[in-house]
Amino acid sequence: MMANWGNCRICSENPFTVLFGWKQPEKKCAATERKCKPSKRNEKDFKPRSEEEVKEAVAKWSEYVHARARDFFAGTQQLEEVLAQLAKGTDKDCDPVAGSETQCVYWYGDVTKDECQAAIRMVKPGEMQESVTYVNRVLAFMFATDESFEKLMALPKEPFRMNCGDQLCVHLAHISLATC
Ligand SMILES: [Zn+2]
Repeated sequence: MMANWGNCRICSENPFTVLFGWKQPEKKCAATERKCKPSKRNEKDFKPRSEEEVKEAVAKWSEYVHARARDFFAGTQQLEEVLAQLAKGTDKDCDPVAGSETQCVYWYGDVTKDECQAAIRMVKPGEMQESVTYVNRVLAFMFATDESFEKLMALPKEPFRMNCGDQLCVHLAHISLATC
């Protein structure tokens, strides 16, 4: 028996859903198969967080989460699960939310098959299956100020461009608000 979602916010017209730019799940593939733009990311440099460090990062970033994301994920564990994925996909010495803006924060998690964009899997509230979306769109949704968020919502439903020119950077402060 399905729950009655008749009055819920989780529908296809939902601006949050539009913002995320949902993708079909894609499997990781060899770098040679992709048309990747050059990135300074070096997988050998990756120092993953321990389980304890993931929890610490989730607790820290939870304090920065915007009310729009809290409402979207209301009463679910999914918000923390997404934050945990962010923690697992970035280096333990890097902070994509509150870290210094002078350094890029590279993504070591999933990337999309065709364009090598940083991607994240998440289960939307009210759904059972994972969806794949772009990390920088999720970051903006969760942490951007209202002013930045409004500008970003007006951009195409694609991965946001990064000011630093590196699409495998997921620093919130490096997301470009430029429209062209
Ligand atoms: Zn960057």
